[in-house]
Amino acid sequence: MKIVAAKKILKANDQLAAENRALLDAAGVFGVNVVGSPGAGKTTLLEALFAQLKGRLKPAVIEGDIAGSIDAERIERIGVPVVQINTEGACHLDANMIASALKELDLAAIDVLVIENVGNLVCTAGYDLGERLRIVVLSTSEGDDKAHKYPAIFQGAHAMLITKTDLLPHTDFDVERIAADYKRLAPEGEVFQVSAVHGDGVAEAADWLADKCRQSK
Ligand code: MG
Ligand code: ZN
Repeated sequence: MKIVAAKKILKANDQLAAENRALLDAAGVFGVNVVGSPGAGKTTLLEALFAQLKGRLKPAVIEGDIAGSIDAERIERIGVPVVQINTEGACHLDANMIASALKELDLAAIDVLVIENVGNLVCTAGYDLGERLRIVVLSTSEGDDKAHKYPAIFQGAHAMLITKTDLLPHTDFDVERIAADYKRLAPEGEVFQVSAVHGDGVAEAADWLADKCRQSK
């Protein structure tokens, strides 16, 4: 019997992630890993952010999904270069998948690469993809206990974007509670409140992303 330890797999992933990061850095591309549950509003958020950043940043997207290309088609429709990764059952992206997808992108033509991870608050936390920035997206309909219950993903995120704030009057979601839990895990982390469909808070989040991108150059 042959047994491969999970730790070894993660070590190989870290090595590949470092190579991805070096490749992106050399091309002047700022990598962003967007994580969150299925239905948190990740793709809708990206559409809103890209509309806001038009003329300021040249983005591209890698879409991670177990099956299909619905989100990639949405990104393509707004004129942003996109590569779809179908994980065929795997519940997270890894650095090896990103390395393959990077070959399909013209890195010289972009300055920010947004990777929309597979919808999952658990194991996406353990896989460095070679990004410089990680954003966790949490919608108000998911509940304000998620940072408490899934600490790793929040701990590793540079910002928490609370989405669907237009639904706040219809939920008992407590923004202060989740913000306090998140700040305990990531004291340096930023918190944004966004309603992508109404446009509230999009400019603030977009400005922050543009600043982070600029600072990395
Ligand atoms: Mg999506
Ligand atoms: Zn997974």
